[in-house]
Amino acid sequence: MNYSLWQRFKVRLSGRCYLKYEMRPEWSGYLPLYLAKCSKHGYFEGHPQGYSNHLNCPICLEAAALSRKEAVGDLAKVER
Ligand SMILES: [Zn+2]
Repeated sequence: MNYSLWQRFKVRLSGRCYLKYEMRPEWSGYLPLYLAKCSKHGYFEGHPQGYSNHLNCPICLEAAALSRKEAVGDLAKVER
C-alpha cells in the first residue's frame, strides 16, 4: 500500500496518522485504524491497544511472541 506524503508526514510528526474507521464482526463497534511506523520494519496499519493506546508493529509482536516461546522451550530443557 502506498501512503501519501501527508500521511507519512503526520506519522513522523505525531507517531501515527488516522486512516479510517474499521468494523469487524468480533468487535462490538467501529475502531479507528492508524498508520504508524516501526523503526525496524517500516510502515504498518494497526489499532491502538489497551490503556496505553499504543500501536504495535505486527512483525515485532510476532518476533516477541516467538522469542518468548523459545525462552519457554529453553526453560523446559533446563528443568529436564
Ligand atoms: Zn517492527
